[in-house]
Amino acid sequence: MLSEVEAFHFKGKNFFVKRDDLIDPLLSGNKYRKLYSLIQTPAEKYKTIISYGGTQSNAMLSIAALCQQKGWGFEYYCKPIAQHLKEKPTGNLAHALQLGMKLIEVDHDKYEHAIAGLKTQESAQTLLLKQGGADPLAELGIQQLAAEIAAWQQQEHLKTLNIITPSGTGTTAYYLAKSLPQAHVFTTASVGDNAYLLQQMSALGDIPSNLTLLEPSRKYHFAKPYPEFLNIYEELKKAGISFDLIYAPKMWLTLFARMQNIQGTLLYVHSGGLLGNETMLERYAHKGVHHV
Ligand SMILES: *Cc1c(COP(=O)(O)O)cnc(C)c1O
Repeated sequence: MLSEVEAFHFKGKNFFVKRDDLIDPLLSGNKYRKLYSLIQTPAEKYKTIISYGGTQSNAMLSIAALCQQKGWGFEYYCKPIAQHLKEKPTGNLAHALQLGMKLIEVDHDKYEHAIAGLKTQESAQTLLLKQGGADPLAELGIQQLAAEIAAWQQQEHLKTLNIITPSGTGTTAYYLAKSLPQAHVFTTASVGDNAYLLQQMSALGDIPSNLTLLEPSRKYHFAKPYPEFLNIYEELKKAGISFDLIYAPKMWLTLFARMQNIQGTLLYVHSGGLLGNETMLERYAHKGVHHV
């Protein structure tokens, strides 16, 4: 077992939480699982990993930590970043740069084309990882997470099990549902809406019938500060577990809005990402957004 399952009492309801956030501070949560097959790969196999996406991404930080451990170069493509960030990087970007990540900025109008062209850089020793680690390579590590959950379900004699975990690319929720046909997986989109998430997941294969996308009660923009996000983050923390400020608040709020239709044991898979809270909390303070 890479992580334990803990009982968690929150807002008058009983949950269990799979503490994947405690596996490793940098290679945390579902990023550890998604990068598991690379963690197991001998260092000699690759020289360079290439990826792309946002500059506060949790996936970016985890890949940087992995590459540093393996002695691999890490080239990360992004859209142009603000001058003040260049001079004084913050949060995940600062950590990743310290870990040796090479940041390559590409103009907005050339970005799509440049990303599509990265394939040509792939070779026996250079691996291209899709944004957010949304790669079939992730399946092996998620299968291990699924096996740990199945063992726990059996040990606890649970006939019905509902698993909750938030989605970015949907890779984690998709492979969890695929690997655990005896359980039901609930998720919600953080990037775009559920229709877009479903489309992203379809790139991985047919959508499993035991996977449900819960509809949030209102629209939220990705990685923006919202008072109710800070609110539930603080409440969760008071109840005993710290979660990330981007994915988890929307998942918990959506779960409470839709929970009346879900019967049986609830297991929340903690997806990690706590290091990103540093910059999010600064943004909340900067915007004057406080919890109520
Ligand atoms: C990356 C991330 C997710 C989303 O995972 P996907 O597999 O891309 O859906 C959820 N929560 C946290 C904290 C993350 O860092």
